[in-house]
Amino acid sequence: MRDSDTFVTFHKALMELSHDSNFIGQRRHLKLEALTALCGRLMGVERVSVWIFPPERDRITCETLFDGHEAASSGEPCASPATSAAHSTDPSPISLYRSDHPNYFQAIAEERIIAVDDAHTDPRTASFNPDYLTRVGVHSMLDTPVFEGSRLSGVICLEACHPRQWTLPEMSFAVAIADTVSLINTHERWMNSKRALDYISRFDSQTGLANMDSLRERVSHLAEKIKRRGQGSLALIWVDVDRLKTINDGLGPQVGDAVIAEIGQRLRSLRLQGKDLLARIGGDEFALLIRNHTKADSIGDTALQIQDVIRQPIRVAGQSLSVSASLGICHLPEDCQRARELLRGAEAAMYHAKHLGRAQATVFDSAIQISAQSRFALERELRAAINNRELDVFYQPILDASGKRMVSMEALVRWNHPNRGWLAPIEFLDIARGGGLMYALGECVLTRVCENWREAGDRGLQLPVISVNLSSEQVLVAELPDRVKALCAEHAMPVNALQFEVTEDSIQGDFNTLAGVLERLVEAGAELAIDDFGTGYSSLERLKSLPFSRIKIDRSFINQLPDDEDDCAITLSILGLARGLGLMVVAEGVETKAHEQWLVEQGCDFLQGYLYSKPLPFTELIERFFRGTETRGRSPAPG
Ligand code: C2E
Ligand code: CA
Ligand code: CA
Repeated sequence: MRDSDTFVTFHKALMELSHDSNFIGQRRHLKLEALTALCGRLMGVERVSVWIFPPERDRITCETLFDGHEAASSGEPCASPATSAAHSTDPSPISLYRSDHPNYFQAIAEERIIAVDDAHTDPRTASFNPDYLTRVGVHSMLDTPVFEGSRLSGVICLEACHPRQWTLPEMSFAVAIADTVSLINTHERWMNSKRALDYISRFDSQTGLANMDSLRERVSHLAEKIKRRGQGSLALIWVDVDRLKTINDGLGPQVGDAVIAEIGQRLRSLRLQGKDLLARIGGDEFALLIRNHTKADSIGDTALQIQDVIRQPIRVAGQSLSVSASLGICHLPEDCQRARELLRGAEAAMYHAKHLGRAQATVFDSAIQISAQSRFALERELRAAINNRELDVFYQPILDASGKRMVSMEALVRWNHPNRGWLAPIEFLDIARGGGLMYALGECVLTRVCENWREAGDRGLQLPVISVNLSSEQVLVAELPDRVKALCAEHAMPVNALQFEVTEDSIQGDFNTLAGVLERLVEAGAELAIDDFGTGYSSLERLKSLPFSRIKIDRSFINQLPDDEDDCAITLSILGLARGLGLMVVAEGVETKAHEQWLVEQGCDFLQGYLYSKPLPFTELIERFFRGTETRGRSPAPG
């Protein structure tokens, strides 16, 4: 055959193989076997092997060896270490070390092709003798490095047992084989990362259970099938671990994680008829999908079983914890027809169970459906109200305890709902939180405060410092200080006219992030208060290391003053603590003269409560507290 014909024959065969759909779909080692066999057959060489560098890169290791002494065109077979099988997949693979064969390693690193007619004498391969060449019976070698990108990753090795002078088409073909191996490797690596990504996107890394996406997919698939066949049923049990937040806050997130892992393990080991999928669908939520478990069956028993395994004490970090869970159950097709409705129904039933108190289980019914629907509707309306900046802010004066003059005021969000009228935060903050709307809500409030400030300024009124509540969602956003500065600048409001209130619970998150946010707010000029003090789990360490300048005592402690001894003692200890830390104290919920008198006597600095004023809409506030105080032009910013 002429050289050019050989060239065409070789490359055509390689193209055919690499485009064969059977070949493409095969596992990597089978592809390598097919490729080495093709190469051996076409080139009439006895041995074709694929070698790779392990991570240490101090050697190359044989991955696949085609031993074609049976297929070889002529002569004595090589004395092969491989068995009679054409391919060897030796459990203890052969390796060649860089330290034993420095010339060879240098050659594969530097040359595109190593064509060796006499391997015994060629300086690049002579070191293989007699250990390898003589033992195996190799005479000529044609080696081609394999690259992945620009990185040398291995070598293809063609060995002939008889003297050979390698032709150009043969060399070109060997390079093409090496390129094909390189493609196979790249494809394999891509497939592996895709598999890893698939795993991450379908499983919860902490428990190894399926995640919400997998659950949704599975429920959709089964619901479709039930609809198509007109038979079968599903029950979805939504399990929400009660008060996990308390454990996280009080004992640390590692303990919370361990509790979740243990509960996951216990649910996994539950033997339930028809159990189809167990998923972790949120921080403290699991879901169990059960097939062909009709209402007539006692799903109640299943619920009891679940609650029972969760209730068994959990030992973590040397302590024994008691945990309970709230369960919501929904059935398809009895309660709903579609996958999405099944998920929503079970979740709504779980919320209902939570409402009844802890450790309850509720089965979805029409009443729950109505309340869930109104919850969803309310969330939709709230989202729109926030987007359209329709939320409002009421202001409640804060007085200095000595002179009883207004020194600042707290901004409190209100929502004027088209059908329901004014709504207090308790009626919609939970929904905002559940809908991931807290950050946007906070920004809406801040914007309204800035607008009111500007409006007052335009009318020549000097407002006092305004105290704005920040949610835990806001204090963990690194951009918050810049956002505050930008909004203030836009409305000609100095940042030092703002104070921020952060609850004890909100400072439990990642310390570095929130310390950064709070410090930058203070740097910008705002003051910080710790809100609802005494109600949460507070670490004195955190309190000390964050830049707070005041403490607000929660109104639940003020309520019973001065008759309740415990409340008196708590309030006194907060006052003492504040003095020790050099912080000012604000008492909230001051409703009576008796409250006022006791607090003033104990040295409380500021007072806030219905005794002085309820939170007021902006116009009413101006009317009541600022009428006739207009000065000409804009007044200077308070210090
Ligand atoms: P908070 O920050 O502790 O606000 C004080 C709450 O106590 C206000 O309730 C206020 O109206 C009420 N209050 C004040 N004085 C008295 C009193 O003498 N007696 C009684 N019984 N209550 C009094 P409101 O406005 O319903 O707000 C409730 C909670 O909602 C706030 O508690 C705060 O945690 C949250 N909140 C309000 N506005 C916002 C906001 O803009 N952002 C965030 N993240 N939370 C807000
Ligand atoms: Ca507050
Ligand atoms: Ca408060």
